[in-house]
Amino acid sequence: MIKKAEPSTTPSMQELVSLCKRRGFIFQSSEIYGGLGSCWDYGPLGVELKLNIKRLWWEEMTSHPNIVGIDASILMHHTVWEASGHVEGFNDLLVDCKACKQRFRPDDLTAQICPSCGGELTSARKFNLMFKTFMGPVEDEANIVYLRPETAQGIYVNFHNVVESARLKVPCGLAQIGKAFRNEITPGNFIFRTREFEQMEMQYFVRPGDDEKVFEEWLQSRFDWYARLGIDSHRIRLHEHMKDELAHYAKKAMDIQFEFPFGWQEIEGIHNRTDFDLARHQQYSRRNLEYFDVETNAHYIPYVIETSAGCDRALLATLLDAYSEEEVRGEKRVYLKFPKAVAPVEIAFFPLLKKDPLIEAADKLFHDFRRRYRSMYDDAGSIGRRYRRQDEVGTPFCVTVDFQSLEDQKVTVRDRDTMEQDRVAMDRLAEYFEDKFAHHE
Ligand code: ATP
Repeated sequence: MIKKAEPSTTPSMQELVSLCKRRGFIFQSSEIYGGLGSCWDYGPLGVELKLNIKRLWWEEMTSHPNIVGIDASILMHHTVWEASGHVEGFNDLLVDCKACKQRFRPDDLTAQICPSCGGELTSARKFNLMFKTFMGPVEDEANIVYLRPETAQGIYVNFHNVVESARLKVPCGLAQIGKAFRNEITPGNFIFRTREFEQMEMQYFVRPGDDEKVFEEWLQSRFDWYARLGIDSHRIRLHEHMKDELAHYAKKAMDIQFEFPFGWQEIEGIHNRTDFDLARHQQYSRRNLEYFDVETNAHYIPYVIETSAGCDRALLATLLDAYSEEEVRGEKRVYLKFPKAVAPVEIAFFPLLKKDPLIEAADKLFHDFRRRYRSMYDDAGSIGRRYRRQDEVGTPFCVTVDFQSLEDQKVTVRDRDTMEQDRVAMDRLAEYFEDKFAHHE
């Protein structure tokens, strides 16, 4: 278990959005043109944070002896989406306001009139959430392709290629990280619900009959994984889909939910998809997608246990949970308590003052360390302000070179959480950090 120092505070979404913009985590897409609704761009720190989350997920999956990765293309044959049931069934209900033309999901409405202007609403109709485009220069029905609404189908259609080429035996899993697109009717809550997002999905193929046991194992393992992002286990919980909530393909489905400022909401789904997907692809492609089990001497279509996590939602939960506020000498200190493996910057290097010999020494350390650790150099503003900036982006350590350093060859290392300072000999700094980062927690 990862221990975190108290205190932790939940910021308002507004506070978090503003910190993300100010410090270069996340910006509104196309902001200079007034922004594009529900699309967000990751800035220098956001992209590092996201990469770290993806790396931790990827390592977790591919360190498993029977799991390999793939990277399928976003555009796929249109029949894939007929086989998967998305063309027919990936719909949300939608109502329009006849007066102001805004659109709503009926389940978001509490009254029969438009919540925005009080106008009359149309009756509900189905709206397919897949983005459509055309392949090639001719814009006709035959050339329709969809932007994938989930990464899972890329795994199912490659199942046989991968199992044969990688010589895998069931039970085995395929892991994939990639973009997915859904034309959500009511996106919102910052990066929580967007129309373009990233998924981290692993589909685990098992013998029919083993599915229920394996489902429980993956459920536990996925729940536990969030501790690696520093997320407090009290702020996540499981929610089981009741019969009427279950997707057409699912025998059992559990959500891992996080306590967002706007309520408990899903960050990952674990589903028992049975043999639905492979059986449907077998039917639509007319290819034999059965697996021959040499141990049991039987042909069957494997069952699939799916773990489907949203990268952006995991990142939002990580930011919210890491956010901490405390009072230090009458002033508010905001810091992000990221685990070291998650922090976008691991070590920041400062000269105490903007003086040549100090700059030179700090810059040298920065160059020595930046290949080994995600590092940053900063000499702008007072040292207090620089510490505050690094606290706000969650940098675990700051190293300061002062005039004394030029005499005794020692630097000050400040710890983000305790604000304690160690005086460390420069020639022992590598060893010092090796020890500090050893367990990468
Ligand atoms: P919701 O009920 O919130 O729409 P869902 O049940 O449709 O989610 P899944 O189809 O199970 O979601 O997708 C798996 C994961 O992908 C979700 O747990 C979530 O983390 C992520 N995800 C799905 N839709 C979005 C979206 N519009 N924006 C960001 N992440 C998303």
